[in-house]
Amino acid sequence: MGMRSLACLLMTCSLCLAVPASAEGTALSMREVAPGIFVHQGLHQETSSGNHGDIANIGFIVGEHCVAVVDTGGSAEVGSRLRQAIRQRTRLPVCHVINTHAHPDHEFGNAAFATDKPAFVGHQRLGAALQARWPHYRKALARELGEQQAARTAMILPGQSVTGEMTIDLGGRELLLRAWPTAHTDADLTVLDRKTGTLWLGDLLFEERVPSLDGSLKGWLAVMRDLRQMPVRIAIPGHGPVTDDWPAALDPQERYLQALQNDTRAAIKASKTLADTVAQAEHAPASGWLLFDAYHRRNVTTAYTELEWEN
Ligand SMILES: [Zn+2]
Repeated sequence: MGMRSLACLLMTCSLCLAVPASAEGTALSMREVAPGIFVHQGLHQETSSGNHGDIANIGFIVGEHCVAVVDTGGSAEVGSRLRQAIRQRTRLPVCHVINTHAHPDHEFGNAAFATDKPAFVGHQRLGAALQARWPHYRKALARELGEQQAARTAMILPGQSVTGEMTIDLGGRELLLRAWPTAHTDADLTVLDRKTGTLWLGDLLFEERVPSLDGSLKGWLAVMRDLRQMPVRIAIPGHGPVTDDWPAALDPQERYLQALQNDTRAAIKASKTLADTVAQAEHAPASGWLLFDAYHRRNVTTAYTELEWEN
């Protein structure tokens, strides 16, 4: 009998029966991808009680004076486990929590850092995006992980907003934050560690898992052209493995988005309705992308509504 089961018996704790086994209380596994830069790679899954919202890449950067967190995971529990991973490595304070965009798998862990009193930082439109979507995101979290888990999180609006570019100094380590025009979402932010040439892309880059479009298809393709020009040695996508193959790491996603644009434009030109175009997308080949069935048709819907007005 494991310690957990023993504890359940001793406590006759109803919660132990209701909550599936999790790694609550243990630090997240991290990989140091460059000196002082630690990444936890999330699973290629939808949020569920089995993964506790641990589905996105999150991590932290250690300077001489303090630590910056980049995204916090899909639940307060994941955020808390990330915080433990930081505490295992350094006693320096957490001075910044940076969110790359508003999607719940990247920011529901923010609440775990509230006691550190960091500056919460995001794109100038992040606050508005969170306010507009929070009730919906909160409801989905309660449905997926239970009310108890949902009650532990809280909407934390950014105290520092980035318009254009902003530099953060962690002590001997400068981070260049850049707010992008609408692409994956309308509040995408990247973080470049100048010292090592490591770029955190948030969901401006998906690897292995099919990209999800929640902003602008044409905008995303344009942003990717600019990203290619950046001096990147190590790229950290929002989902999928960290890579040093830059800018080639952008190629599969660019091919997918370009094909989405071409096919949708062709359907509109052929006077196909949105419903017909989406129905046809059901038969599209996944071409190796994970979670393709869950997102491709949604992407076609978003692309169609954007592109039907372009002429
Ligand atoms: Zn996202």
